[in-house]
Amino acid sequence: MKTFAYTPATDVESALAACTEGATFLAGGTNLVDLMKLGVATPDALVDINRLPLRDVTELPGGGLRIGAGVRNSDLAAHPLVRRDCPVLSQALLAGASGQLRNMATTGGNLLQRTRCAYFMDMTKPCNKHAPGSGCPAREGDHRNLAILGASEHCIATHPSDMAVALAALDATVRITGPAGERGVPVTELHRLPGDTPQDDTVLRPGELITAVDLPPLSFARVSAYRKARDRASFAFAVGSVAAAVAAEDGVVTDVRLAFGAVAHRPWRAYAAEQALRGRPATRQEFLAAADAELAAAVCLRDNAYKVPLIRNLVSATLARLTGEGA
Ligand SMILES: Cc1cc2nc3c(=O)[nH]c(=O)nc-3n(C[C@H](O)[C@H](O)[C@H](O)COP(=O)(O)OP(=O)(O)OC[C@H]3O[C@@H](n4cnc5c(N)ncnc54)[C@H](O)[C@@H]3O)c2cc1C
Ligand code: SF4
Repeated sequence: MKTFAYTPATDVESALAACTEGATFLAGGTNLVDLMKLGVATPDALVDINRLPLRDVTELPGGGLRIGAGVRNSDLAAHPLVRRDCPVLSQALLAGASGQLRNMATTGGNLLQRTRCAYFMDMTKPCNKHAPGSGCPAREGDHRNLAILGASEHCIATHPSDMAVALAALDATVRITGPAGERGVPVTELHRLPGDTPQDDTVLRPGELITAVDLPPLSFARVSAYRKARDRASFAFAVGSVAAAVAAEDGVVTDVRLAFGAVAHRPWRAYAAEQALRGRPATRQEFLAAADAELAAAVCLRDNAYKVPLIRNLVSATLARLTGEGA
């Protein structure tokens, strides 16, 4: 591993001041340190943000929750307000990684974890994300778990977070602070689509720190769920997942939020599916039609076309369970 400097920060101001060119924030370290050992991440300095006062979940004045960027995944999953008001988030967190990892992993770090594309994590291989212009061997090679939506000829990587899929369905906003001041970015716009610059995962600017994630009040999020398909029953990344919240009256869908995981470079908010469902009967046939409306844009490669029927069935099964239409 490359030698690096280490600076423990105790407040946001000193963390920002220490995060100069070549430096990176260290949260739980469960992704960053692995990538440093592999030589994929080579920071000159780590600014440890674990002592920053960003570890609380608080209620926002108009309703909703503010989740500090340093809140551990296990604490967030167990939080009574999260479990009551948006079970989809608790379920997504508990579907991720292992108990030990969730005890270290943070809200900010989980959002900013890097893709699990095998070529990205192997510095002996070409990859447009770790070496721009070197090519994308995944297109012809191992792409079984790579993107079917929003990809480009330059990169078909997927974002691996479960939590981010739930946050996308919940209309979350990421609070960011940096040298140019503070701003809020909808979580659906935090991660970029790869286009011709796949080396840029997100819209974060150099030196910017995520301080919190805000969840607006969404009354029907109490009727929400996360469903994840994976190769093993635990300790495995998603090959496809769905986060859903739904409101139905007299058998008709009055409002709905849907997001898909492991299908794109970002957690994929399924706006077309939502639009297709509003005002429609809460039936399996309509749920499948809504999924089809979203998945019409899918572009599949040799080994990942299975994701289309997988997501389709996850949407139907999740909404059927939430609306009582039989799972
Ligand atoms: C074996 C294994 C299995 C896993 N399985 C899953 C899974 O099934 N589902 C899933 O979702 N995840 C899974 N993970 C990933 C895990 O959830 C992430 O590694 C973890 O959430 C990252 O959080 P962290 O706090 O450790 O981030 P770190 O590793 O500390 O940081 C990750 C990145 O975020 C940046 N960063 C961190 N916090 C901030 C901040 N506040 N502001 C700006 N930048 C910041 C760091 O600089 C770094 O670039 C798995 C990981 C492992 C090792
Ligand atoms: S999919 Fe993206 S991360 Fe994977 S090899 Fe291609 S360019 Fe690299």
